[in-house]
Amino acid sequence: MEQVQQSKKTETAGGGELLDDLIIREHFLYMGGSQVPFKRSPNQTSKARSLGSQTRPFDPKGIVLHDTAGRLEKGSSVRWFLQKKAKASAHFVIERDGSLTQQVALDCKAWHAGKSAYKGRTGVNDFAFGLELVNPGRCTQLADGRFKPWFEERFKEGENGLHFAYKATKSHGSGWWLAYSKEQIEVTIALCQRLTEDYRLEFITTHYEISPGRKTDPNPLFPLERVKQAIKEIPPDKKDRRAFLPADSPMRRWPSYHDNVIMTVPAGAELDIIRKCHFENEAVGGARDETAKLPKLWCLCAYASHEGWIEGEKIQSLGDRGD
Ligand SMILES: [Zn+2]
Repeated sequence: MEQVQQSKKTETAGGGELLDDLIIREHFLYMGGSQVPFKRSPNQTSKARSLGSQTRPFDPKGIVLHDTAGRLEKGSSVRWFLQKKAKASAHFVIERDGSLTQQVALDCKAWHAGKSAYKGRTGVNDFAFGLELVNPGRCTQLADGRFKPWFEERFKEGENGLHFAYKATKSHGSGWWLAYSKEQIEVTIALCQRLTEDYRLEFITTHYEISPGRKTDPNPLFPLERVKQAIKEIPPDKKDRRAFLPADSPMRRWPSYHDNVIMTVPAGAELDIIRKCHFENEAVGGARDETAKLPKLWCLCAYASHEGWIEGEKIQSLGDRGD
């Protein structure tokens, strides 16, 4: 009992090593320094298309969590989203083993929500990222004790680490549901934290909350409150949006060392960080900076009435200042 409680406690702590491992660079996700596999779904609205037509441009404000409601074999849902006939996609698919595949760039609209509304605003695809967790959805129990999803497959409790539980909720109705794997939940938490931080998101929700009566994903075993809590508990050094400059620093039009300085922000200035992003830069003089293993952090900042990019290393979080 003691042990169970202890491991639970560690799991709830937000912002683990995994979060440090995830970075977003120019709308693609990197883990441990290498890009997460990108398998582009044709089912999306590109940035150019949404700007050029009457469709609303993608302006992410939150995250919608989903189940794939499909087979558990790795890659199976990713392959489905590669097909035009799926008419659906997500920014990320999260496999049972915790591995991620990105299918839509983070400045493009994925097609995951369908008819939906969040706090009265319809068409949630316009303003939310879509994350799909591999899970079969509602199952029924057969006379022999096995579990049957909507597709031709039978699962056995305990086989391949699968665990089922019966649960009934107002949003889901009743059924037998497959528990998410620990790996899936941990990577989901880290990814939601990273997206929330880098895009200054305001909400996290589920498909059943934005399409009530029509959708039941993710299933009732999903620890939604834990994920929400972890987002609230992002360590302050990763979260703080108010920052100050210990020394005079150039503010630049783009995150690069080219001739693009807008102004010099004076030492002691307090700034608002609008966005953080990693970019690979050329060192001054044109040579590639070989010393940097990972791309460099840049912050899009607001100061006085100006907006521009400042090198991350020049900025200190107000929380780090000490009293
Ligand atoms: Zn869904």
